[in-house]
Amino acid sequence: LAERLERFRGKKTVTADGRAVDLYANIGGPQDMEAVLKSDAEGIGLFRSEFLFLKRSTLPTEEEQFQAYSSVVSKMNGKRVVIRTLDIGADKQAESFNLPKEENPAMGMRAIRICLTRPEIFKTQLRALYRASSFGNVAILLPMITSAEEIVQVKKICAEVKEELKRQEISFHPDVEIGIMIETPAAAVISDDLAPLVDFFSVGTNDLTQYTLAVDRQNKTIARFNNTHHKAVLRLLQTAADNAHRAGIWIGICGELAADESLTETFVKMGIDELSVAPSSVLSLRAKISEVCSV
Ligand code: PEP
Ligand code: MG
Repeated sequence: LAERLERFRGKKTVTADGRAVDLYANIGGPQDMEAVLKSDAEGIGLFRSEFLFLKRSTLPTEEEQFQAYSSVVSKMNGKRVVIRTLDIGADKQAESFNLPKEENPAMGMRAIRICLTRPEIFKTQLRALYRASSFGNVAILLPMITSAEEIVQVKKICAEVKEELKRQEISFHPDVEIGIMIETPAAAVISDDLAPLVDFFSVGTNDLTQYTLAVDRQNKTIARFNNTHHKAVLRLLQTAADNAHRAGIWIGICGELAADESLTETFVKMGIDELSVAPSSVLSLRAKISEVCSV
């Protein structure tokens, strides 16, 4: 089997009828880069930056974050690296944030909501991200978006950060792509309004499924109700894909479902442009994609 997969190393990812798909890898930090380089991924589709904030009592400094982002970006040598801004809260609690105890943390103070509430923390991360952008191809991904207003607010903060870096004569790439996670039903339903505001969509099927089916992804006692192939989730995906393409932007999937080979053909037929999976799944998924038709 391993030998069969080795044939796909160094090859482009294309369907049986010749449509190219970008096949990327998910990482939690620089420690995963050895696996990524071994995996032959064509980019990084999800760098979960919050892992830099976990298991420590203080916030990482701009310099620490810059080191982590720029080392990954440099190693990818010009290939796209999608770095997600802080997705703290819910299943990822970080001591240094001193978040209040909540009844429903998955629907509480998490991700972009923390960033917009505590812009000084967000700005430090954005400065590190923009600085890293001069070392390669960085794209910024915003988690847990539910409205156009949130995107407008984030873009305003990004503009302030860029203005500040310019004033300080610190270099950065002027056209860093900004994308959003489609991981709430709201974002999928209004994806026609959101698409013109951003450069790409990345679907977080883990949370999209949780919020669409009202099934807590952490609660093992209801795992059998967590139907990842539910028609409601697939329809939301198709809606987002159609609206992305109408606006001329690309759409990927970075949740666990991206690696589900029983849905590969469905995703390709939906028009999904990019799939991002664990490094260990890359070659196997490239082989699967080579067997499916896009129409
Ligand atoms: C998702 O929700 O599908 C996702 C990719 O993000 P996370 O699993 O980190 O919440
Ligand atoms: Mg998520």
